[in-house]
Amino acid sequence: MRDDGDSWGRYPRAEHTHVSLHDRLHALPEIAGSALPYGNGRSYGDSCQNPGGTLLRTRGLDRFIAFDPVSGRLQCEAGATLEDIISLVLPQGWFLPVTPGTSQVTVGGAIANDVHGKNHHRCGNFGHHVVAFELLRSDGSRRVCRADDDAEGWFAATVGGLGLTGLVTWAELQLRRVPGTSLEVENIRFGSLAEFFSLSEASALTHEYTVAWIDCLARGRSLGRGHFTRADHAAQRAEERPTAPRRRLAMPLTPPISLVNRLTLRPFNALYYWRQPARRKRSVAHLLPFFHPLDSIGHWNRMYGPAGFLQYQCVLPPATAADGVAALLQDIARSGQGSFLAVLKQFGDTPSRGMLSFPRPGTTLALDFPNSGPAVFQLLDRLDRIVDAAGGALYPAKDARMSSHAFQHAYPHWQAFSRFIDPRFSSGFWRRVTE
Ligand SMILES: Cc1cc2nc3c(=O)[nH]c(=O)nc-3n(C[C@H](O)[C@H](O)[C@H](O)COP(=O)(O)OP(=O)(O)OC[C@H]3O[C@@H](n4cnc5c(N)ncnc54)[C@H](O)[C@@H]3O)c2cc1C
Repeated sequence: MRDDGDSWGRYPRAEHTHVSLHDRLHALPEIAGSALPYGNGRSYGDSCQNPGGTLLRTRGLDRFIAFDPVSGRLQCEAGATLEDIISLVLPQGWFLPVTPGTSQVTVGGAIANDVHGKNHHRCGNFGHHVVAFELLRSDGSRRVCRADDDAEGWFAATVGGLGLTGLVTWAELQLRRVPGTSLEVENIRFGSLAEFFSLSEASALTHEYTVAWIDCLARGRSLGRGHFTRADHAAQRAEERPTAPRRRLAMPLTPPISLVNRLTLRPFNALYYWRQPARRKRSVAHLLPFFHPLDSIGHWNRMYGPAGFLQYQCVLPPATAADGVAALLQDIARSGQGSFLAVLKQFGDTPSRGMLSFPRPGTTLALDFPNSGPAVFQLLDRLDRIVDAAGGALYPAKDARMSSHAFQHAYPHWQAFSRFIDPRFSSGFWRRVTE
């Protein structure tokens, strides 16, 4: 098995045949069995895997086709990464209108999971900024799908469509202007979940970017304590500030056991919470480390050891979010199986364009759990029941284990979506949640 065909959580592991695609692709190669596009493997579970089948590796499809520095329209092949795009457009005063927490994802991957960022409440998902793309099907047919002309539904099926409707060969994106490379950032330490919700509500009106880190092991009156971050682009010209130094450290190898465990998690969470003695701190930050804080550490996923880890991301609707998030955090804190990265954020009301897009109004919670065996799976099953009872949904891009009931209940359009699936395309995730 090739390490580079894994998903980011390194769980589950799967055997694949790998076929690399290159730029100016006009037809899919002949493939025995089923195929699935594979971008840069930054999905955590099995939505980018096709066990026993073929992965169509798209990183070679990385050509820029056109960029208009006046309108901010960019056309590029689907294997270009967000980092590639930023390198081209940021020096010209443009940026991605929506970016996930890493720039190491491809345009095709960002479309297929309709990814979101810290400004969801203002700008929606990645798919809201896709103007058009080309879809190549296994029967050799090609169609250009446009956001503003989607009578047949191919655009809505492919945005958030988990790579199953065909291969996106190129996409046209509408970028956004930025005044420079800096952000004005305010970090506010908060002591409870109630404080998070009131900070979030107020900040959504005043700030473009909002997100909170929470101490997922805090209990009692401190339940849900953390740091709330809100930020806006600073009014500076790009050329006035130097580009951020990008230190590339890397985990050189996989340690024999997870470095994230009960011994390290509790002190980390407590220290991280108290790292900022003042309740409020304002700073000016370079936008790259702000948006993609872990990109400077290569292969950081290796620190979870050979068994890998599971990311858990859910969204709970506004009416049930406060009680639901409290119930989730209580169960996690009781179990002692915490996470370094526990992120809480409120989504806005903009309806997603994709039939299977994850973002919807409400509060989203994301956590990483080391794969410590049955205990973690039992915990996640309990969390699923809380999410289900609250009318919430789990994020396929982060998932390796949700039940078919959990998926079908939270994604009621899945059967209508099925008619858009390319008959030769499949994934481990899709078979698990539908068969
Ligand atoms: C550190 C980190 C932070 C993250 N933060 C966020 C976040 O803030 N918000 C968020 O939404 N997500 C986040 N993610 C998840 C990530 O953005 C998504 O999983 C993304 O889809 C990964 O893109 P990829 O190019 O690596 O694609 P892969 O993971 O390889 O594949 C993802 C899906 O895209 C499909 N696909 C890939 N290329 C094509 C193509 N050309 N045509 C059709 N289908 C294709 C695949 O079949 C698969 O279904 C994060 C991931 C990491 C590792």
